[in-house]
Amino acid sequence: MPEIPDLEAIRHFLEPRLVGNTLTSTDSRFPWLIRTGSDGLATLAGHQFVTLRRHGKFLLFATDDDRLLIVNPMLTGRFHWAEPTERKRPMTALVLGFEDGHELRYSDARKMGRWYLVPTAELETVPQMAELGPDALEVDEDTFVARLKKHPGQIKPTLTNQKFIAGVGNAYSDEILWEAGLHPHRRRATMDEDDMRRLYRAMRSTIEWAIPILEAEVADRLYQSNEEWRDHLRVHRKADEPCPRCGQPIHSQVRGGSETDYCLHCQPLVL
Ligand SMILES: [Zn+2]
Repeated sequence: MPEIPDLEAIRHFLEPRLVGNTLTSTDSRFPWLIRTGSDGLATLAGHQFVTLRRHGKFLLFATDDDRLLIVNPMLTGRFHWAEPTERKRPMTALVLGFEDGHELRYSDARKMGRWYLVPTAELETVPQMAELGPDALEVDEDTFVARLKKHPGQIKPTLTNQKFIAGVGNAYSDEILWEAGLHPHRRRATMDEDDMRRLYRAMRSTIEWAIPILEAEVADRLYQSNEEWRDHLRVHRKADEPCPRCGQPIHSQVRGGSETDYCLHCQPLVL
């Protein structure tokens, strides 16, 4: 599932290519993927995007007629900035054509992603948008700590709770907790002010460390294989590999289909 660093790399790649580039065609192969209200996707033709923003795990394409095209790619949504002659990938669900000849394609192997087209003023009608907490890259330290104090339970499910802070998911929460030296099952109620502030700084530094790595992956061509960009991570999905800090093997736990990885030495469980 894409998280902030993945989506920021996509946003940084796409924004300069899209802004000012008039949409000439739209093609949606799975109409149910796009929740457009009364406006069909085809009404985008002839318009331009003026900005590309992100909130949590959502990308928001703002149009020149005050509408928002919003996408949450979920588990398997992938973007491809393609020449029209390039072969379409399997499960290509949506193609936006632009006047410079490029196509923005979106494929989704498990068809879990969601697109919405709404007037900007109706942003909060998009499912989940109204409940999202502040974005993890925008929230300041004092606000983060004040919000965190309302969540006494285990720290990993709190960090990945999009209503608390938006944009951190399963993979980067493992990285952030490793950076902060906090066990994922540690209860927030046992954390002092220093622990909470260290967690905030680890969140910021981990996300800011990862963004340029992913931008280099995107390079001059936006194309994601079905593998996610996860090679650079230090603990997530690195079961039994040595911890980069202490050399002890990384401990792994799978619960409900999602994996949690951590170093028992660097992240001791404090009860
Ligand atoms: Zn370690």
